[in-house]
Amino acid sequence: MVQYDDKRLVVAIDGPAGAGKSTVARQVSKDLGYIYIDTGAMYRALTLKALRQGIDLEDEKALTKFAEETDIRITHRDHTQVIFMDGEDVSVEIRSPEVSQSVSLVAKVPGVRIEMVRIQRELAKGGGVVMDGRDIGSYVLPDADFKIFLTASTMERARRRARDLEAAGYEVEIIKLAKEIAARDEIDSSRQMAPLVQPQDALLIDTSEMNFDEVVAKIKECIQQL
Ligand code: C5P
Repeated sequence: MVQYDDKRLVVAIDGPAGAGKSTVARQVSKDLGYIYIDTGAMYRALTLKALRQGIDLEDEKALTKFAEETDIRITHRDHTQVIFMDGEDVSVEIRSPEVSQSVSLVAKVPGVRIEMVRIQRELAKGGGVVMDGRDIGSYVLPDADFKIFLTASTMERARRRARDLEAAGYEVEIIKLAKEIAARDEIDSSRQMAPLVQPQDALLIDTSEMNFDEVVAKIKECIQQL
């Protein structure tokens, strides 16, 4: 049952790849009657288009222009985010391994981030939003009412991603996946603009030994005390 929370708070959830941010953020937003924004999907949509057009992922100038010209829109269907890139629903295709392997290269370009952050701040304006990503609490919404940093061991994160990919019909090798996740974290944490960091004022939750319901309950309990 939706418990509609009329405080219309802004909740930021950050953390490395596969920590469970999206699943948790979706459930928390659903329970509170808030909007859920998965910012990773925006970088993924741009990456999908760049791969399709064969754009050089090292060419920052080209990627910046490309981000400025691409129409990225987010809507919701049954509390699930639907993302449109130039009018096309790419919500499923952006989850492919090819996009996952390249997305951090696109996301580290400052011009790309400036454009995506502009859209993200606009989406959060009215409050009542749970936004997840890498730099939400530290850069996009530094004044968020509540910040969470979700993490888990690399192997546990790889196992979770493997389950999702297998359910979507992909064949995966867990060790290869763990290496890819670690490589992505490294690029995300070491980039110049708005890297992946744990904000000082964020609640750290290590989900390695917790199940989904426990994580959601803990976050909702904290939000309800605000
Ligand atoms: O969350 P997800 O794994 O879908 O994010 C895909 C990629 O998008 C991340 O690895 C990161 O490179 C980029 N990203 C980002 N900043 C965000 C959200 C995602 O740089 N706020």
